[in-house]
Amino acid sequence: TDLFDAPDFYCLDDLLTAEHKLVRSAVRDFVKREMTPIVEEYAQRCEFPRQLVPKFGQIGVFGATIPVEYGGGGLDQISYGLMTQEIERGDSGMRSCVSVQSSLVMYPIWAFGSEDQKRRYLPDLAKGKLLGCFGLTEPNHGSDPGSLETNFIERSDYYVLNGSKLWITNAPLADIAIIWARNEQGKIRALIVPCDSDGVTVGDIPNKWSLRASSTGQLSFQDVRVPKENLLPEAYGLKSALRCLDQARYGIAWGSLGVAMECYEVARRYALERVQFRKPIASFQLVQKKLAEMLTDITQAQLLCWRLGTLKNEDKATTAQISMAKRNNVEIAQRVAREARQILGGMGIVGDYPIMRHLMNLESVSTYEGTHDIHLLILGSEITGIPAYK
Ligand code: FAD
Repeated sequence: TDLFDAPDFYCLDDLLTAEHKLVRSAVRDFVKREMTPIVEEYAQRCEFPRQLVPKFGQIGVFGATIPVEYGGGGLDQISYGLMTQEIERGDSGMRSCVSVQSSLVMYPIWAFGSEDQKRRYLPDLAKGKLLGCFGLTEPNHGSDPGSLETNFIERSDYYVLNGSKLWITNAPLADIAIIWARNEQGKIRALIVPCDSDGVTVGDIPNKWSLRASSTGQLSFQDVRVPKENLLPEAYGLKSALRCLDQARYGIAWGSLGVAMECYEVARRYALERVQFRKPIASFQLVQKKLAEMLTDITQAQLLCWRLGTLKNEDKATTAQISMAKRNNVEIAQRVAREARQILGGMGIVGDYPIMRHLMNLESVSTYEGTHDIHLLILGSEITGIPAYK
């Protein structure tokens, strides 16, 4: 079988359109051709392959759901999900870059921006000529971003921004940052901040053991002058930031499914080839149990993704539904990756196989965009009407 064959035990392909399948195979081929050959090396070096950014632009993964008139792909949510699934089969760090650019930079400009802002930024972001980042988290405010302290005050024809952001994907390489900050009335708003503005300091977060092929950084702002036209006019309060996170978390639900598929396929093939006690290890019941449970996990995650995508296409997906899918699918991916690592024995820990890289990446994926426990509490709040996290 082809290295990139995907499990499809419940024939979900029957529910996809010809366009969905075309999009998936285009991105799958891209990952196989451009990412897989280099990503391990970049991850080992703890470096982001910046040269992929314009290539992501060329294949249309940036802003896939943004209307064509703004340079986007005009595709539906299932297509976008399938794209993130395929990219994350390659690496979660690459998918993080795509999620940030599409869901956390292009989406807010499209949803909350002025016509001028949309025309000025979206086409170049779609092409990968500009790279963006999204600054919500701060050193003292992670799970509780509503308490953020970064702020701006109004001067005659500009704003003055002060504060800092931590754990910002793409920050060390980004051209622009969407920064969530408080105005003088204490209200949370969003600004498009050029990263080369005077007073912006960008730092790298070195020595990560997870998402090593992704660039993560910190931003600090000291009396940064931001033109007034860079305020996103329709972004009001934390709820606007959370709408962006809903988009990104949806992509993560599909992406982590992609990791699970990849680990399962690698483990299945390995188990059929690896001989111990004069038999392929796939013939042992304990290995079959692992594979059977992995496939069951994957099938459940596929069903969640597909249904969530159709709800999203109808603009009916709720935050709690997205939380369930993000949380569940990251958890199944972690379980599948761990089992795959066991099946590969010692080979499971080396870079010749992608398993350990995926396993380490998933540690970040289960923390960012709302931690595993916070998503559980969002569900708890949905069920009971009582938000236990506040
Ligand atoms: P904390 O909020 O301090 O949480 C620590 C622990 O306490 C967690 O286990 C959490 O579940 C638990 N906890 C907190 N509050 C509660 C509660 N009420 N009830 C129960 N348990 C609780 N942010 C951005 O804005 N932009 C980015 O691009 C971005 N990229 C990231 C990339 C990476 C690699 C990482 C690791 C993070 C990134 N983040 C980004 C930040 C990410 O969203 C935060 O790390 C996350 O929200 C958790 O915040 P924290 O790390 O401050 O942990």
